Amino acid sequence: MADGRDARAGQVSSGCMPVFIPLSNGKIEEDEDGENSDDGQPYAVVAPDCNLWENYSRITFSFFDGNGIQRAKVHRAILKWAMYINLTFVECQSGGDIRIGFDEAAGSWSTVGTFARMVGLNEPTMNLGWINAETESTIPAEEGVILHEFGHALGLLHEHQSPARHGVLTFNATETIRDFRIAHSWTHDMVEESVLHVWNQSELSSHSRFDTRSIMMYSIPGTITEEGNTIQNNNVLSDLDKAYVILYYPRSRRDELCQEWTISRALELVGVDGEPQKNILKTENPDSIRQMFIQWNENNRTV
Ligand SMILES: [Zn+2]
Repeated sequence: MADGRDARAGQVSSGCMPVFIPLSNGKIEEDEDGENSDDGQPYAVVAPDCNLWENYSRITFSFFDGNGIQRAKVHRAILKWAMYINLTFVECQSGGDIRIGFDEAAGSWSTVGTFARMVGLNEPTMNLGWINAETESTIPAEEGVILHEFGHALGLLHEHQSPARHGVLTFNATETIRDFRIAHSWTHDMVEESVLHVWNQSELSSHSRFDTRSIMMYSIPGTITEEGNTIQNNNVLSDLDKAYVILYYPRSRRDELCQEWTISRALELVGVDGEPQKNILKTENPDSIRQMFIQWNENNRTV
């Protein structure tokens, strides 16, 4: 399970393969292929709400291996998500909800959201295979990898597999499979699963308008897309990444590091207005905010 977000830049690689997604019926199934796209209307690509952590959860994480330098890089990167959300990340010695390995041969990947609970306790739920163990400072591409994998851990899926990519990013399947095979030694199935596959609406709770700046995008060379659009590495959270996690994990009090990121601002950025906006701003119950936001997403899909 690996992917090559940054490998072609000669730096670290990022991304992952959320190989199994628990569906709402509780069964675990492999991703189904399909180019089911919606109408391309504005609607971060988020896993079904059953796959999101409960609001105000205390999420423990532990390390399988890695040295102090690698672990410190993870600690610093986690804070960049944590300031926006109501989850608390706490390191424990072993057996954490999120179990992080640094196996260089295993690439970088993560399970999605609470699917981590379905992994055996002696197995990692995330691997960060490209984090330098000797250089103390974190280079942007390393931080991008960690943020991307923790985005999966929060429940986010790949932006480039969003239904909203329709008409904006069209992969040439032959060229894409060839490129990933040469650049990253990926198999056909791996490319299919983590690049070509487009999520069905039923596999998601929401998705935003297509966000090429999302941390959940791979870098994409223009040579493998029909439109010729090149997407560079994204190593920081985009505004839509922040807005979506704020609305899925709403905090009652904003972190002093991001006072400006109010729920109101997140709603405005995503495009929620009118009654849904008023109703969401009226409640302080985080579960209600999440559900109302999911409902808004569903309503907007059918318009
Ligand atoms: Zn990924």
